[in-house]
Amino acid sequence: MCRTLALTPAALTQGKEDMTRTLFLLTCLLAACHPAAFSQGSAAKLPEPAALLNQYIQLASVTGSEKEAGVFLSGLCRGKGLHVKVLSSAPDSYNFTASLYPLESRKPNIILLNHLDVVPVAGNSADWLYPPFSGAVADGMVWGRGALDNKGMAIMQLLAVADLVGLAAARDLPYNVTMLSVSSEETGGALGAGLVADRYLGELNPVLVLGEGGSGVSGVLKSAPDRQVFGIEIAQKRGIRVRLSLRVASAGHGSVPPHDYANKAMVAALGRLLDRDPDIKLSDPAKLMFEALGKHESGLRGVAMRHTWLLKLFGGRYLRQEPLIQALVTNTATVTNISNPRLGVNQIPQRVTATLDCRLLPGTTQRSFMRKLRNTLGNKEIELEVLSGFEEGPFTKPEGFFFNALSHAVKRVHPDAVVVPILFPASNDNSHFRAHGVPAYGLLPLYLTEELLRTIHSSNERIPVASLESGISVYGHFLRSILAGKSE
Ligand SMILES: [Zn+2]
Repeated sequence: MCRTLALTPAALTQGKEDMTRTLFLLTCLLAACHPAAFSQGSAAKLPEPAALLNQYIQLASVTGSEKEAGVFLSGLCRGKGLHVKVLSSAPDSYNFTASLYPLESRKPNIILLNHLDVVPVAGNSADWLYPPFSGAVADGMVWGRGALDNKGMAIMQLLAVADLVGLAAARDLPYNVTMLSVSSEETGGALGAGLVADRYLGELNPVLVLGEGGSGVSGVLKSAPDRQVFGIEIAQKRGIRVRLSLRVASAGHGSVPPHDYANKAMVAALGRLLDRDPDIKLSDPAKLMFEALGKHESGLRGVAMRHTWLLKLFGGRYLRQEPLIQALVTNTATVTNISNPRLGVNQIPQRVTATLDCRLLPGTTQRSFMRKLRNTLGNKEIELEVLSGFEEGPFTKPEGFFFNALSHAVKRVHPDAVVVPILFPASNDNSHFRAHGVPAYGLLPLYLTEELLRTIHSSNERIPVASLESGISVYGHFLRSILAGKSE
């Protein structure tokens, strides 16, 4: 869901830069003076979730600098009577658990997963109505980097688990409940969820991980565009980064182009890759998603979605029309960089590299994908190197006690909503646990308008104060029903 805004300063003249700075300072000043905006000093007057999020956002935990935010959050958990265990602490990362019972109790554990890190503000502070690390509370929202991804969710989880402390003390509950806060999600999770899943799985004893993933959105059902649809992530595509390198010993002067030279050959190969329509593959998680959505669609569309062989046979145009839908039914390769050694405009470089961000559907092996990629590029001289890749774990079936409890909890708070399983087009920390065979679902348990969704990783990220409360309710219903041994 990474989105970045165009960086304008480089293109600005000095005069425009001055104006931008002035406008930014004015914006900051207005934000500080805004009658409805609260800073840290007045946070005590706010509802508790908003007050805590206000403070948490002010700790700018861009990946690699999560520790201060982690120490703050674990301190809040201790203050609420949770059993905190710091799993790892380093200058560039921090991972901890906060549980109803100590991990040593060895109870089967429900893990609520969140990440401490946020993406940087990519030079666009001037586009923010309130400064990105202010946590300003204004217009019924908490504003700032991480409000949606993923600090708001952490505060909801914390308060939902803390609400059960008394119950856990009074009764010997069948499950432990643990909030797990980790580092480095935004860069792949090697120092966070990856490390925790590799080293602490036995100690955690997880029976379910519930992390980020889908959320409530509208506009999904063509037959009922206003109806809220909550997507619970059951699987995700897995990313592999590939570097292509080509060296062609050619003449060097740009005035007489040789028949073959490095850039020409690379561009031609990439052209073959990008010009072809990728094959449509309906993976098992995608089929489950379409079938569930089809139950709420009318007409031919509904019939085709409920019978996915029809969708595959006749739905090519529909499946390729929207980039998001296409990404859910194809293996994708996006060209993210093409580069040469730095030379003059009249010099022909003999080396060229390109990087591809590739996303593989569940069921596609890295080996088969790379074979197909090589064939499609159609140039044996191009070297392919996998820079990073993930193990694939089994997807988590959308059935049984935990899935039903989560669906019912969403419907308790959002009675008219539809709840469906979804395949997630990107990857997040849930994959580290699925790779170890741990069932994992992904849901930010609140409704988001398209406008709010667009703020994730972008400017003016914010979360409605009311949504913090409704998210806590969803977690609360879910946990209480599980602890009571009932899925509804
Ligand atoms: Zn996130």
